Amino acid sequence: MKYSRQRDLILKTLQENAIHPTADVLYAMIKEIEPSISLATVYRNLNQLADQGIIRRIRGLDGSAHFDHNTHNHYHFICSQCNKVYDVPYDIIPELADKAAERTGLLIESYDISFRGICPDCKKLN
Ligand SMILES: [Zn+2]
Ligand SMILES: [Zn+2]
Repeated sequence: MKYSRQRDLILKTLQENAIHPTADVLYAMIKEIEPSISLATVYRNLNQLADQGIIRRIRGLDGSAHFDHNTHNHYHFICSQCNKVYDVPYDIIPELADKAAERTGLLIESYDISFRGICPDCKKLN
Protein backbone atom coordinates (compact mmCIF):
# COMPACT_ATOMS: atom_id res chain seq x y z
CA MET A 1 0.00 0.00 0.00
CA LYS A 2 1.18 3.47 -0.79
CA TYR A 3 2.50 5.61 2.03
CA SER A 4 -0.10 8.37 1.59
CA ARG A 5 -2.94 5.86 1.53
CA GLN A 6 -1.73 4.25 4.78
CA ARG A 7 -1.53 7.65 6.41
CA ASP A 8 -5.04 8.59 5.23
CA LEU A 9 -6.45 5.30 6.49
CA ILE A 10 -4.83 5.76 9.92
CA LEU A 11 -6.09 9.33 10.21
CA LYS A 12 -9.60 8.39 9.05
CA THR A 13 -9.82 5.50 11.52
CA LEU A 14 -8.72 7.79 14.34
CA GLN A 15 -11.33 10.40 13.36
CA GLU A 16 -14.09 7.79 13.29
CA ASN A 17 -13.11 6.40 16.70
CA ALA A 18 -13.00 9.37 19.02
CA ILE A 19 -11.99 7.29 22.03
CA HIS A 20 -8.37 8.51 22.30
CA PRO A 21 -7.04 5.08 21.34
CA THR A 22 -3.46 3.92 21.89
CA ALA A 23 -1.46 2.86 18.82
CA ASP A 24 -2.13 -0.79 19.70
CA VAL A 25 -5.90 -0.31 19.86
CA LEU A 26 -5.93 1.64 16.62
CA TYR A 27 -3.72 -0.97 14.95
CA ALA A 28 -6.23 -3.70 15.84
CA MET A 29 -9.02 -1.66 14.18
CA ILE A 30 -7.01 -0.85 11.04
CA LYS A 31 -5.88 -4.44 10.60
CA GLU A 32 -9.53 -5.43 10.12
CA ILE A 33 -9.72 -3.14 7.09
CA GLU A 34 -6.15 -3.49 5.82
CA PRO A 35 -4.56 -6.75 7.00
CA SER A 36 -1.20 -5.98 5.35
CA ILE A 37 -0.45 -2.96 7.54
CA SER A 38 2.19 -3.37 10.27
CA LEU A 39 2.18 -2.08 13.83
CA ALA A 40 5.44 -0.21 13.10
CA THR A 41 3.73 1.64 10.23
CA VAL A 42 0.84 2.65 12.48
CA TYR A 43 3.26 3.87 15.18
CA ARG A 44 5.39 5.81 12.71
CA ASN A 45 2.43 7.53 11.06
CA LEU A 46 0.76 8.42 14.35
CA ASN A 47 3.95 9.98 15.68
CA GLN A 48 4.53 11.90 12.45
CA LEU A 49 0.95 13.19 12.44
CA ALA A 50 1.34 14.27 16.08
CA ASP A 51 4.70 15.97 15.39
CA GLN A 52 3.04 17.87 12.54
CA GLY A 53 0.22 18.99 14.84
CA ILE A 54 -2.47 17.23 12.79
CA ILE A 55 -3.41 15.03 15.76
CA ARG A 56 -2.57 15.20 19.48
CA ARG A 57 -0.54 12.80 21.57
CA ILE A 58 -1.68 12.37 25.19
CA ARG A 59 0.44 10.62 27.79
CA GLY A 60 -1.59 7.99 29.66
CA LEU A 61 -1.09 7.12 33.33
CA ASP A 62 0.76 3.89 32.50
CA GLY A 63 3.18 5.74 30.18
CA SER A 64 1.32 4.70 27.02
CA ALA A 65 0.55 7.26 24.33
CA HIS A 66 -3.06 7.92 23.37
CA PHE A 67 -3.99 9.74 20.18
CA ASP A 68 -6.66 12.38 19.66
CA HIS A 69 -7.86 13.66 16.29
CA ASN A 70 -9.31 16.75 18.02
CA THR A 71 -6.61 19.43 18.08
CA HIS A 72 -8.97 22.17 19.26
CA ASN A 73 -8.41 23.45 22.78
CA HIS A 74 -9.77 21.05 25.34
CA TYR A 75 -8.66 19.21 28.45
CA HIS A 76 -8.61 15.54 29.35
CA PHE A 77 -9.61 13.23 32.15
CA ILE A 78 -7.80 9.91 32.55
CA CYS A 79 -9.44 7.16 34.57
CA SER A 80 -6.96 5.70 37.04
CA GLN A 81 -8.72 2.32 36.90
CA CYS A 82 -9.39 1.63 33.21
CA ASN A 83 -6.95 4.19 31.71
CA LYS A 84 -9.63 5.52 29.37
CA VAL A 85 -9.20 9.12 28.25
CA TYR A 86 -12.23 11.42 28.28
CA ASP A 87 -12.58 14.95 26.92
CA VAL A 88 -13.22 17.83 29.30
CA PRO A 89 -14.73 20.88 27.58
CA TYR A 90 -12.53 23.91 27.14
CA ASP A 91 -15.16 26.38 28.39
CA ILE A 92 -14.89 24.96 31.93
CA ILE A 93 -11.56 26.80 32.25
CA PRO A 94 -11.35 29.10 29.24
CA GLU A 95 -8.15 30.93 28.43
CA LEU A 96 -6.23 29.05 31.10
CA ALA A 97 -3.00 29.24 29.10
CA ASP A 98 -3.52 32.92 28.25
CA LYS A 99 -4.12 33.78 31.90
CA ALA A 100 -1.09 31.77 33.03
CA ALA A 101 1.08 33.50 30.43
CA GLU A 102 -0.23 36.91 31.45
CA ARG A 103 0.41 36.39 35.15
CA THR A 104 3.85 34.78 34.83
CA GLY A 105 5.28 36.32 31.68
CA LEU A 106 6.04 32.80 30.41
CA LEU A 107 5.72 32.09 26.72
CA ILE A 108 3.43 29.06 26.54
CA GLU A 109 3.75 27.11 23.29
CA SER A 110 1.55 24.14 24.12
CA TYR A 111 0.00 22.34 27.07
CA ASP A 112 -1.41 19.00 28.00
CA ILE A 113 -3.75 19.15 30.96
CA SER A 114 -5.25 15.91 32.24
CA PHE A 115 -7.41 15.40 35.28
CA ARG A 116 -7.20 12.03 37.00
CA GLY A 117 -9.85 10.04 38.82
CA ILE A 118 -12.56 7.43 38.42
CA CYS A 119 -14.78 7.44 35.34
CA PRO A 120 -18.57 6.79 35.53
CA ASP A 121 -18.19 3.22 34.21
CA CYS A 122 -15.63 2.27 36.87
CA LYS A 123 -17.57 4.11 39.58
CA LYS A 124 -20.58 1.89 38.84
CA LEU A 125 -18.49 -1.25 39.37
CA ASN A 126 -17.28 -0.21 42.82
ZN1 LIG B 1 -12.67 3.92 34.16
ZN1 LIG C 1 -9.43 14.79 23.47
